[in-house]
Amino acid sequence: ETKAPSNFIRQIIDRDLAEGKNDGQVVTRFPPEPNGYLHIGHAKSICLNFGIAESYQGACHLRFDDTNPEKEEDEYIQSIKQDVEWLGFEWAGEVRFASNYFDRLYELAVQLIRKGLAYVDLSSAEQIREMRGWAQQAGTPSEYREQSPEEALAQFEKMKNGEFPDGGAVLRAKIDLASPNMNLRDPVLYRVRRATHHQTGDKWVIYPMYDFTHPLSDAIEGITHSLCTLEFEDHRPFYDWVVANTDVGAEPRQYEFARLNLNYTVTSKRKLKQLVDEKHVDGWDDPRMPTISGMRRRGYTPASLRSFCESVGVSRADSVVDMGMLEAAIRDDLNQHAPRAMCVIRPLKLVIDNWEEGKEESLTAPVHPQNEAMGTRQVPMTREVYIDQDDFREEANKKFKRLVLGDRVRLRYGYVVRATDVVKDDQGNVIEVRCSYDPETLGKNPENDEGQGKLRGVIHWVSASKGLPCEVRLYDRLFTVANPAKVEEGQTFLENINPESLKVVSDCWVEPGLRGALAETRYQFEREGYFCVDQESTDERLVFNQTVGLRESWPK
Ligand code: ATP
Ligand code: MG
Ligand code: MG
Repeated sequence: ETKAPSNFIRQIIDRDLAEGKNDGQVVTRFPPEPNGYLHIGHAKSICLNFGIAESYQGACHLRFDDTNPEKEEDEYIQSIKQDVEWLGFEWAGEVRFASNYFDRLYELAVQLIRKGLAYVDLSSAEQIREMRGWAQQAGTPSEYREQSPEEALAQFEKMKNGEFPDGGAVLRAKIDLASPNMNLRDPVLYRVRRATHHQTGDKWVIYPMYDFTHPLSDAIEGITHSLCTLEFEDHRPFYDWVVANTDVGAEPRQYEFARLNLNYTVTSKRKLKQLVDEKHVDGWDDPRMPTISGMRRRGYTPASLRSFCESVGVSRADSVVDMGMLEAAIRDDLNQHAPRAMCVIRPLKLVIDNWEEGKEESLTAPVHPQNEAMGTRQVPMTREVYIDQDDFREEANKKFKRLVLGDRVRLRYGYVVRATDVVKDDQGNVIEVRCSYDPETLGKNPENDEGQGKLRGVIHWVSASKGLPCEVRLYDRLFTVANPAKVEEGQTFLENINPESLKVVSDCWVEPGLRGALAETRYQFEREGYFCVDQESTDERLVFNQTVGLRESWPK
């Protein structure tokens, strides 16, 4: 295993360890809200948090930040666990839930009330928003702000006991209504919400706010370095306030890093959910989605995503990463590791007139031309084969390194053939090519080659009688513009969806060795690109997803 490159967070940890902080412990956490599937941005956070735990012999917790019961579902919890495991990380101990701490959080809220640091406000949400003021204008105190601790306690108890309607009361911290940081202008700690929670059922009708829950959950779990994205920088003073004013017994520190943004896609759960809900894509794991499950189905490997996240790095500078970089990561991995196979995507029949009817030969081909250890495969050769329509022309100049009427190419791993004739349909389209083969050319060049010129090239093919019919799904970017979220007034990001992001080609042919290939098996289809078996593939009908082309080909 290669050592992870350093970054500013690792430097902070190194310094903390050198100073003997946290008893030499490093404990991080990955804290998703279970309100959607994880995307490539989350992968960066996962690699950072779990990667740090790995390199410092520390621990990384998986904690669901479940303070919004209406938006959360068990399906999301299961998918998130699966994605983290698939990426190859292991969380320390059991999966945790912020809701595990609801009792403790309630006690800590009571503590704040006793200290005169929190009060129950019966103003409406609208009124509270107005009383908060704005950047240049200090807030105004609510009539409930000078409540005695006794009164506040009684009211908070009433909130807990369901004596207020939804939205009828909130618990607010009493901090500083004139603070230039809006997050310190008496933020809400608890709200009344009658919603069945996926973990705690109907036990609670009040739920703690994320900003109150998060620092305390970190402290309860002994998190030493709480890493989050830059938009939480302004929340850090409140994070520290909560930890300092409750005796939760630990002092986690929050550090912020820049979000990962990728061009030609969106990385916001809300937008991804909209794509799913409105059926612009075929579910969260649609191979065009930047979700971990979508990329997995597309053919991405855990190693490629980890190496991508590593090469993106960790900093405090916002940037947009080029999709080409993600594609390069999977291309490098598959180029090294994917077995080779031949698949004809746009079939054109090639009939070898001097090949005996019914004769079949088994040709030997390497599984990977640069890696002998991967062994060999057998490819059946018969009188009729399919070649790609793009690999034949009736006429072409010397730059066309494929089959031309009257000229020769090698069928990859097989014989040299010369095109002799074509059969056309009523519209004049070539529907069949006739050829002759030279039986002396298996693994060697044609003899007596003088005057015949060089072979034009080598093309891939599949036996027409022995090959397997299959479906190939070709993908393009899901959006037509680099920044799909940037739209004119009155428009939405949906207007930037690429209507041609999926092309299903249903009459393709693949070599028979792929019979029974399991979902997620990845191949290089020689001369075509990288593909993997889709989960909808069956023994009767193989289905492949295009992962990425052989070389960078975009923009076209
Ligand atoms: P979204 O904006 O997509 O809803 P989120 O931040 O609300 O994302 P969470 O479930 O709260 O989603 O995220 C879990 C963790 O992943 C958080 O610590 C968050 O900072 C991190 N994270 C989310 N999106 C990105 C991103 N694009 N780049 C890096 N980290 C991210
Ligand atoms: Mg969040
Ligand atoms: Mg969010």
